[in-house]
Amino acid sequence: MRSVDEHVAAAVALVSPLPATEVELAEAIGLVLAEAVTAQVDSPPFDNSAMDGFAVLWADVEHATKAVPVTLRVTGESVAGSESAPTVTPGCAVRVMTGAPVPDGAELIIPVEATSASFAMFEPIDADGASVQIFDAPIGRTHIRRRGEDVVTGQVVMQPGVLLGPSQLAAAASIGASRLSAIRRPVVAILATGDELVAPGEPLRPGQIYDSNSVVLAASVRRAGGIPRVLTRVGDTAEGLLAALEGAHADLIVTSGGVSAGVYDVVKGVLAERGVTFVKVAMQPGKPQGIGTLHFGTLDGTPIACLPGNPVSSLVSFEVIVAPMVRVMLGLPPHRPLESVIVAQGWATPPERQQYMPVRFHPDGSVLPATGGGSGSHLVASLALAEALAVVPADVDSVREGDTVELIRISG
Ligand code: AMP
Ligand code: MG
Repeated sequence: MRSVDEHVAAAVALVSPLPATEVELAEAIGLVLAEAVTAQVDSPPFDNSAMDGFAVLWADVEHATKAVPVTLRVTGESVAGSESAPTVTPGCAVRVMTGAPVPDGAELIIPVEATSASFAMFEPIDADGASVQIFDAPIGRTHIRRRGEDVVTGQVVMQPGVLLGPSQLAAAASIGASRLSAIRRPVVAILATGDELVAPGEPLRPGQIYDSNSVVLAASVRRAGGIPRVLTRVGDTAEGLLAALEGAHADLIVTSGGVSAGVYDVVKGVLAERGVTFVKVAMQPGKPQGIGTLHFGTLDGTPIACLPGNPVSSLVSFEVIVAPMVRVMLGLPPHRPLESVIVAQGWATPPERQQYMPVRFHPDGSVLPATGGGSGSHLVASLALAEALAVVPADVDSVREGDTVELIRISG
């Protein structure tokens, strides 16, 4: 039997980061930046006020106190989006709002709280005779955000390799980038095999079951950052399987079912002779696995992972074997760091196999088995409660209350 680490290493060795493409900012979340981002403009693009208040000259206000206020004439205002405002001259103030351009000549902003004014909503400035009393001058602070204080035109804001999250996209937007060059998402074709499968929503005839793997795998591909392409499921025939694979048009193909030792396990029977290696992996669930690259018909080296059909095995196999492949294609490291949690209620583990136990969270953050019936790989409806997979190494022979386990999150 192959260890899980050995099998995952063989799987990720079949793939590499995909080429870069231009993407809209809104589509770039979760992608890896392929080209440096350079500021097109200064940020901020102009000097602007950090406060609602009055733009003034330092010499006019430096001695202002509550007891002996300074009175200035208000000559106009600058609001957010203003293109022009009166120049600040001695003895005068210009009303300013946060984010508004600082009027020419102004040396500092006096916050409204340090004046006699109160800014009622939409209150116009009294056209003649408007004035304001200044009670206090900020010491050493101008409350002016300077042009280019954040970045200047031409400055590199992000280097290739950065994972684009909300903060990175905010930085890109702030310097005027509307599109970025990023490693594209892999298209992952999903093919469920089995004569017994019926789409959810259809009536079940004797011997039939609902195809849950197509749904699970498509959702898992999306969660991992790929684009799922669900192929029409095929029965257990070589012709059907080969035709579906040839029409896959994907960066990676994932099949489910047909990989164990049954007479009609057609995936194994047909693909073992066509570049896929079928092995037993020391994991539970998910022991029978196939990986390789396909070279026939229109397929020219497309990587494939053949997962077992049992729904829990399929889900676990995706997380353990396919998700790292998707991450590598996205330009990411194959594994996310795992989190450690305390076990609230123990469970039985198999000897010499790394176990992936579906668990749910207790309100205190500890975990317990999600399924009453243990980790049986056919207990798919019980997965409704599962929030994570607890990883129990092959050499651990039991999991007890109070132990620490590592988790792969499968929800949220
Ligand atoms: P197989 O690997 O094809 O022998 O399938 C193992 C078990 O998983 C059988 O009980 C199948 O009926 C079940 N199974 C296979 N494919 C699916 C699927 N797409 N959805 C739900 N159950 C499946
Ligand atoms: Mg089958």
